[in-house]
Amino acid sequence: MLSLPTQERPPAVAMCAPPIVRSAVNLAPYTSFRVGGQAEWYAEPRTTHDLEACVSWAQSESLPITVLGSGSNLLISDDGLPGLVISMRFLKRFVVDEEEGQVEVAAGTPLPALSRRLARRGWRGFEWAVGIPGTIGGAVVMNAGAHGGCMADCFLNAKVLGPDGIELWTPEQLQYSYRHSAIQGSDYIVLNATLQMAPGFDPELVKQETNQALRARKATQPYDRPSCGSVFRNPVPESAGRLIEELGLKGYSIGGAKVAERHANFILNAGDAKAQDIFRLIQFVQNTVQDRFALDLHPEVKMLGNFQLA
Ligand SMILES: Cc1cc2nc3c(=O)[nH]c(=O)nc-3n(C[C@H](O)[C@H](O)[C@H](O)COP(=O)(O)OP(=O)(O)OC[C@H]3O[C@@H](n4cnc5c(N)ncnc54)[C@H](O)[C@@H]3O)c2cc1C
Repeated sequence: MLSLPTQERPPAVAMCAPPIVRSAVNLAPYTSFRVGGQAEWYAEPRTTHDLEACVSWAQSESLPITVLGSGSNLLISDDGLPGLVISMRFLKRFVVDEEEGQVEVAAGTPLPALSRRLARRGWRGFEWAVGIPGTIGGAVVMNAGAHGGCMADCFLNAKVLGPDGIELWTPEQLQYSYRHSAIQGSDYIVLNATLQMAPGFDPELVKQETNQALRARKATQPYDRPSCGSVFRNPVPESAGRLIEELGLKGYSIGGAKVAERHANFILNAGDAKAQDIFRLIQFVQNTVQDRFALDLHPEVKMLGNFQLA
C-alpha cells in the first residue's frame, strides 16, 4: 500500500474525485473472511481509463492506494483503510491467440471462470486454478498455486500500471518463488496478464480433470465457510497444517475466529468474528508453533490496516 501517515495528509476533498469514487464504503463484503472496516474512499473502475483517473486523483490528493482483487487473501482491519481502495473486480477481458495457445486476461477475471473456459476449449495448464476464489491480478501478485501447478508455470508477461505509466513485466522481473512475486508490497497495479497454455486436448478430458481438482479440494477444505484459504505458508519441508493439527489446535477459537476442524491451516470466521479476533488467533498459533517446534510460521494472508499486538 502506498502510504502517508494519516495526520500528515491534507483533509480529504472529494470535489474533484472521479464520479465512480464513493466515500466510507464497508469493505467486509469484498473479502472472503467477511470482516474489515470501511474504506475512506472506494472505487470499482470498469475501464483502464477510469482506473488511471482514480489513481491520478488519489496521487493528487496524496492518498494511499490499496488494490483489491476478490479479497480472498486479505485480512482488513476493523478500523478500515485510509485513502483510496480500488477494486479490480469489474475489469474483465479474455483474448485468445489460437495459434500460439496463449490467453490474455484482464486483472479482475475470476480464476475459476478462466479455468472452466480454458477446459471447454481443450486447453490444458489451468486446471489447478478452478478452486481458487481469486482474480488473475491477485494470482499474478501472489503466485497462486494448487495441485502442483502455479502462476509461475504459465505466466508469460503482465501489463502493470506504475509510477511511470504502463509497463510490460516479464517473469524475470516478477522474480517468482513460492507464493511470492516482486509486485507484492509494491506500488504497481496489474492490469492484465498473458498466459501460455497447452492447446489441442480433448475438452471432455480437461473438464474431467478440472472437476477432479475441485472435488479434491472440497473433500479436504472447509470451502463453504468464510476464510482466506491457507493462513500460513508451509515451512518447507514441513506442512503448516500438520504442525497446527499436531498441537491439537483444530477447533480452537478466539472470539468469532476458529481454527477449522477440517483443515488446520484454515481459520474461519465462525459467524461474528472481528478482524482483530482473526489476527489474535493467527498470533496465538504462531506463538504456540514457535514454543513447541522452534519454527516461524509466516502468514500467506496479507494483513492491511491497524491491528493491536497482544
Ligand atoms: C477458500 C479459499 C481457498 C484458497 N485456496 C488457495 C490455493 O489453493 N492456492 C493459493 O495460492 N491461494 C489460495 N487462496 C488464497 C487466494 O485465493 C489467492 O491468494 C488469490 O491469488 C488471491 O487473489 P485475489 O484476487 O483475491 O487477491 P486479494 O486477496 O484481493 O489481494 C491479494 C494481494 O494482491 C494484491 N492485488 C490484488 N489484485 C491486484 C492487482 N490487480 N494489482 C496489484 N495488486 C493486486 C492485493 O493488494 C493484495 O496485496 C484461497 C482462498 C480461499 C478463500
